[in-house]
Amino acid sequence: MTPDAAKLGDNTAVNDADLVVHDAVVVTVDENNRIYQNGTVVVEDGVLTDVRTTRDGDRTCDADRVIDGEGTLVMPGLVNAHTHLELTPLIGAFSDLDLMEMTSGMTAIFGHIAEGEYDYLTDAGYDLAALNFLTGGVTTVNSMDVRPSGGAETFGEAGLRGFFGTALSDLFWDIPTDEQFARAREFIDEYHDTYDGRIRATINPHDDWSCTRELWERTAALAAEHPDLLVHTHLLELEASNTMARSNGAEDSLDLLDDVGLLDDRLVAAHFRLADDEDIQRTAEADASVAHCPSIFCYWNTDGDVQWTPVPELRAAGVDVGLGIDDHYWHDSYSMFGEARQARLAANLKRSTGQYSSMELVRMLTIEGAEALGIGDEIGSLEPGKRADVILLDVDKPKFTPLTNIPAQVTNNAAPADVETVIVDGNVLMEDGDVKTMDADAVRDRVETAVDRFEAETDWDLGLGESDPPSTLDVTRDVPKRGPAQLLGRLAFQSVRDRFSF
Ligand SMILES: [Zn+2]
Repeated sequence: MTPDAAKLGDNTAVNDADLVVHDAVVVTVDENNRIYQNGTVVVEDGVLTDVRTTRDGDRTCDADRVIDGEGTLVMPGLVNAHTHLELTPLIGAFSDLDLMEMTSGMTAIFGHIAEGEYDYLTDAGYDLAALNFLTGGVTTVNSMDVRPSGGAETFGEAGLRGFFGTALSDLFWDIPTDEQFARAREFIDEYHDTYDGRIRATINPHDDWSCTRELWERTAALAAEHPDLLVHTHLLELEASNTMARSNGAEDSLDLLDDVGLLDDRLVAAHFRLADDEDIQRTAEADASVAHCPSIFCYWNTDGDVQWTPVPELRAAGVDVGLGIDDHYWHDSYSMFGEARQARLAANLKRSTGQYSSMELVRMLTIEGAEALGIGDEIGSLEPGKRADVILLDVDKPKFTPLTNIPAQVTNNAAPADVETVIVDGNVLMEDGDVKTMDADAVRDRVETAVDRFEAETDWDLGLGESDPPSTLDVTRDVPKRGPAQLLGRLAFQSVRDRFSF
């Protein structure tokens, strides 16, 4: 359309559209971080065709669906760049335990999931996760799980976007490695690039502290068979990370990944807390990405003097850094807005004020999360040509009055309950708080039934006032033995070698 035609009110484009939102505050998160005070977003065939200041004709256009955006803030759907979803029904179960109770309880549970014993709980977990992340404005997740097929189907059917993969580790549990890779292959074959491309498979070596070099080499072989898949892992999270890398015959974790051929632009590394200058440089050169998960580490950190994730340095070096809520049921949160706030609080506490501008955090919640997952050219900002993943927040309330410094309001003040409409690929999944693609009551019933059964089977008492896990003795009897025993043995041996340099 020529500027003259626009002035004359040529409505052809909006009249032919599937969806038009007008008179909203539009936070585009484009290259210039442009915000329209009175903006219009036009969608056709699942794609954004126009994002601009509202014109008179927008209000009376003949688009299939016209949403009056007055009192709303429109922004790209949020990206949860690293998470685990299948134990979502256990929200509240872990948050008051001590670290030892939590990790031993989790290890035991994961052992059972891998054996397929808690399918009723994990399937209900994917339902609950999809429902709560959808209603909270999260349109894309990147989830590493034990049995991801339920997640792929639930998120696919709910109309959401998701990356899912099967966790692989040979020192964390006792499942034979051949069986783990067979499951991972099966999942990729069945689910990669399904649901109109919204669901994609990933390859998930669990981490750099519970995998042997052999497992990394097998992972690299699988990755070579599937060159279009991301490789999603936990990296440089714990002090044990580099210790295990040395035990695996490398200088450090990145060296090990480089050795086996996995340090490249397909790598999405969660945490990266212990990265030093050389790690940052190598990551930037490899064009690998990082998912920063501040809440989980702040919650379970055992040592106040730990190094904190060098996110500003990573971003300055050109590394794409998204935000992840990680095991959200360990810290009882569905809020990706909260994750942005926590990123700032943790960084400022450790390093003093001003570690991020609010807009940088908005970018990490959206476009940089998308870039980290390799789909920054498809989603993450509101620009013509991108897929229409759009959320509307109700900002017509006292908590958002006055509506100044919108990036700060989004990162410090917004909450999942402020999201009223969610659109993915141009499809309206929730409108005015009403979820269209899931039966919220059925999900709740299913979750309640699953948790009742889990309590009966495990003696875990999830009461109104507390969470009372089975005794440590019972849990210890239940945890996998062979894998973890090797894991601890290898780490202890390597620590002695490091100390005495042999
Ligand atoms: Zn994780």
